[in-house]
Amino acid sequence: MGDWMVVPVRIELLTTGTELLLGTTRDTHGAWVGQRLLGLGLRIARQVTVPDGQAVGKAMRTGLEEGEVLIVTGGLGPTSDDLTRESLAEVLGLEMIEDKATLRTIEEFFASRRRVMAEANRKQALVPVGADILANPNGTAPGLYLAPGLSGRCNCAVFLLPGPPRELYPMFEAEVVPRLRALSGIEEGPDCVELKFVGIGESDFHQGVDEQLESIGGLEHGYCARPGEVDLRLIGTPDVVKEGRLVAETAFAHELVSDDGASLEEVVVRLLTGQGMTVAVAESCTGGLIASRITDVSGSSEVFRYGFVTYANEAKCDLIGVDREDLLEHGAVSEPVACQMAEGALRVGKADMAVAVTGIAGPTGGSEGKPVGTVFLGLAVRGGETRVVKQFHPWGRDVFKRQVSQSALNLVRQALVG
Ligand code: ATP
Repeated sequence: MGDWMVVPVRIELLTTGTELLLGTTRDTHGAWVGQRLLGLGLRIARQVTVPDGQAVGKAMRTGLEEGEVLIVTGGLGPTSDDLTRESLAEVLGLEMIEDKATLRTIEEFFASRRRVMAEANRKQALVPVGADILANPNGTAPGLYLAPGLSGRCNCAVFLLPGPPRELYPMFEAEVVPRLRALSGIEEGPDCVELKFVGIGESDFHQGVDEQLESIGGLEHGYCARPGEVDLRLIGTPDVVKEGRLVAETAFAHELVSDDGASLEEVVVRLLTGQGMTVAVAESCTGGLIASRITDVSGSSEVFRYGFVTYANEAKCDLIGVDREDLLEHGAVSEPVACQMAEGALRVGKADMAVAVTGIAGPTGGSEGKPVGTVFLGLAVRGGETRVVKQFHPWGRDVFKRQVSQSALNLVRQALVG
């Protein structure tokens, strides 16, 4: 553990919502809050998730007894199962009063959207006596903060925050972070850097740099691996983070994609924009995923020309001019077809560069010579020679598609960085 971990504040996170336990909503608050706290040099000691209703009060009791800071998300809404406010007041023995200013803010929220406020929303203006009201510019439910010792029953600071991420995140930044800084006495958090690498796996890091990173005193490092990419997180004082970074960058210079959390597709769009280049894609086995990922990035309209989803053989011939004879002779999943798809996309798409993929996602369609997971990727650049690479990703349809889209975007990235 690094030298920076000097503030052992015990933070409990309680996420509430039946939907989180039914599996219909993925609980992302733990990850988001955890990351945000990390940047402050703090961390969640325990996260508990409970359904709406009576379970909330019970879980709060434990959190209040054992934590120094209790953060509760969700259940501030107007419906009968939203009981967070009431549960806290009951557990702490605090009276609830209607806060006039809060009620006005809620009324104005509805009025500005030309909607009539339902009577049920009135309860969102009820606050435990002595609580700070945390403004919610993005919704009706204000958050609440109870300073340690407010009730005399416990010495734990409590934050009640709304469930919807677009309400929670800005409130956390504006209202929670400054209070946590004050509570914990932290002025500056540790340095924390996340390096994203594409085209290598976690095991490459274990073999390549783990020992070296471990030998750097005071540096904490960790990995987060996803299909086709791995993030390396380095935490510590500026000097040790710099040292760790140098180790990783030196070992995997070609695979390093970003150091600011940017995704591969964001980096590709950035590079294309910076160089004034445009791209087209021809996709068979990824069914449009590459185009979809590029167009997820704001600003992609400047650089993205065409996406051809040429799934059937005729589409490859009719739309981007793949030669029928070559298709018959070599098969759709082959080097010449990947090459012609890339060149056809470049030509018809009138782009500066084009990437093409053709492969066998499975589970059917494989053969001895071309087993499931085989893929050819072509990269054509205006005025340059077309490159084709063959890869093998035999991990099921979803992962295959994701991996192939990673490889295709990475080919474009590598061509752009030279
Ligand atoms: P509302 O006024 O919208 O009811 P609320 O504060 O009562 O707000 P909840 O009803 O608990 O919050 O949650 C509202 C929505 O916020 C949920 O349907 C879900 O989409 C999202 N949400 C809540 N908790 C989480 C979580 N832990 N992770 C991700 N999303 C969440």
